[in-house]
Amino acid sequence: MRITAIETYDVRFPTSRELDGSDAMNPDPDYSAAYVVLRAEDGREGYGFTFTIGRGNEVVRAAIDALAPFVVGHDASDLGGFARRLTHDSQIRWLGPEKGVTSLAAAALVNAAWDLAARAAGKPLWRFLADLTPAQIVEMVDWRYLSDALTPAEALSILEAAAPGRAERVRHLEEHGYPAYTTSPGWLGYDDEKLARLAREAVADGFGQIKLKVGASLADDVRRMRIARSVVGDDIRIAVDANQRWDVAEAIDWMGALAPYHPWWIEEPTSPDDVLGHAAIRRGAGVPVATGEHVQNRVVFKQLLQADAVDFVQIDACRVAGVNENIAILLLAAKFGKPVCPHAGGVGLCEVVQHLSMFDYVAVSGSLDNRVIEYVDHLHEHFTDPVVLRDGAYQAPTAPGFSSRMHASSLARYSFPDGPEWA
Ligand SMILES: [Mg+2]
Repeated sequence: MRITAIETYDVRFPTSRELDGSDAMNPDPDYSAAYVVLRAEDGREGYGFTFTIGRGNEVVRAAIDALAPFVVGHDASDLGGFARRLTHDSQIRWLGPEKGVTSLAAAALVNAAWDLAARAAGKPLWRFLADLTPAQIVEMVDWRYLSDALTPAEALSILEAAAPGRAERVRHLEEHGYPAYTTSPGWLGYDDEKLARLAREAVADGFGQIKLKVGASLADDVRRMRIARSVVGDDIRIAVDANQRWDVAEAIDWMGALAPYHPWWIEEPTSPDDVLGHAAIRRGAGVPVATGEHVQNRVVFKQLLQADAVDFVQIDACRVAGVNENIAILLLAAKFGKPVCPHAGGVGLCEVVQHLSMFDYVAVSGSLDNRVIEYVDHLHEHFTDPVVLRDGAYQAPTAPGFSSRMHASSLARYSFPDGPEWA
């Protein structure tokens, strides 16, 4: 399927006006997408995007445009080759390698190609992926830099071991969905009353886990944890998320003060690049550690796992170079026996990452134990196939594709800087 054209958009939503998404490092995000439409010669289209929090979204869009020559005029049906072409060009690679803006840009394009392929097959992406053979899945991965932790042969045996139960797990997802947790109560900009009300509503809505942002003020965090714990009771998990705010010793001390309220995990306690720091915090704080939404590529995930630095692997559908690199990370997590609990929220991240977790359950890990997908109740109305949450679970998507298509009216209204919302 030859690609004849791509279109790119800089789309921004003014979320900073309500402090939605506010945390200790990101006080005023405007949730944004660098959005791509791939046009194929048979008239089909594929949709993809990557997520930013506002300023700089134009840089990602420019990086996508810089990758266009590796897309337009090329065949997109070989999805492994498509992804490698976007990450292996030596001149573009110099800007990373395989990190930052170039990976964000590759994610938008790679995910759009998967959307296109799943639409052409008439399947939701999670089913499209789960219908690949173990050998086909292994072919999708760029194995460079992974062999000291995971070889293609080991990956193949992980996938083959999971193959017999696939049909049963597909049925389970279609019936029960995939468990979610909600971050909506816990934004740092919300007052105590709003925190308590939203935490209470989360439990009533069927969530078994909520998450609170922490890291700006220890006194505030202790008070907010106490309120949240008293509202939800002892049986609901409360994760906390510092969004990279601390140095190592500070993280250990801070978590010591929150320990009486039994945090389920501490997320992003320090720099996402600091593998050994995460390992030290995990040992010193005695609280499980989660990270990944800003982990730049499969190599750093490999090190986090090798160094026993994480308890929960938080993939992000649009941070690393799209579906292919996330397959590598799912396989690494399975090899090391760590649950994958994706980062979502933002704009559209819930829509897309649900497909990767469902694929993980059906074809890779074969397990739902301690696995939950983040959920945030924002901006879903801009997508043609928005997520469906019921009883605290993501309902399995049925529409063909990656749930990544935005309404044309949203693209027009929120285009930056000339759309009516911003002009
Ligand atoms: Mg987070």
